[in-house]
Amino acid sequence: MTIEIVLLGTGNPLPDPGRAGPATLVRAGGRTLLFDAGRGVCMRMAAVGTLPVMLHAVFLTHLHSDHICDLNDVVTTQWVMSPDRRSLRIFGPARTSDVMDGITAMLAPDIGYRLAHHADLDWVPQVEVTELVAGVAIDDGEIRVVAAATDHRPVEPSLAYRIEQGGNAVVVAGDTVPCPALTELCAGADVYVQTVLRDDLVNLVPSRRLRDTVDYHSTVEQAARTAADAGVGTLVLTHQVPGPAPGSATEWTAIAARQFGGTIVFGEDLTTVTVPGR
Ligand SMILES: [Zn+2]
Ligand SMILES: [Zn+2]
Repeated sequence: MTIEIVLLGTGNPLPDPGRAGPATLVRAGGRTLLFDAGRGVCMRMAAVGTLPVMLHAVFLTHLHSDHICDLNDVVTTQWVMSPDRRSLRIFGPARTSDVMDGITAMLAPDIGYRLAHHADLDWVPQVEVTELVAGVAIDDGEIRVVAAATDHRPVEPSLAYRIEQGGNAVVVAGDTVPCPALTELCAGADVYVQTVLRDDLVNLVPSRRLRDTVDYHSTVEQAARTAADAGVGTLVLTHQVPGPAPGSATEWTAIAARQFGGTIVFGEDLTTVTVPGR
């Protein structure tokens, strides 16, 4: 069976009319999994025929606002569109429960309005949060999802996920610098999706706050080196910082190609990568 990866949003924290916030959809073994829930995630899911009610689970790489700012939309839309009481499973690092509690508190007026107005809706949003350190998140006979701790310090903890199905494997990593646990998670994967930064460009920007971001993201070269060290088949560049200039895709992939001989995909919103079944 094939695994399909859809980059729902490839943006970074700065609003961009052409790029939604970080979010990646993975379809594998009949499961639909969402990784991060950045700005515009439900719109981009709708563009590929997926609604929150169709998700088997949501995985968060870390709790930076750009990666979770539309999680409330996923939760509310899953709730109001569910024909019956069904849970939304959310996996994430420590403090994911605190974030969910805050979202639930923020939604309290809305939840009250809808419960009062719809006779057939007699349950509040059903969210099951599992906080992970590392290890197996899901192993249901069809797919296996394994988490590893990454290094996005001082943002701690942060996670990357490996999705396995029928002998194929895909890794979705969030913001992180290269680290042994990430390379190990990526070992032999068909596809490795990495959020990346161009230090050569960011270091030119006269903004201390933007330059601060260089030390806790993988540069394009570093992501490519991780891909090479782990022996992956395809490297996918997403969440590019700074927002890429029009027509610059080949510049980004050429930098990666200096370190990595496999396939390199420059991500745009709704870029889809398919791993053929074995
Ligand atoms: Zn981050
Ligand atoms: Zn980010």
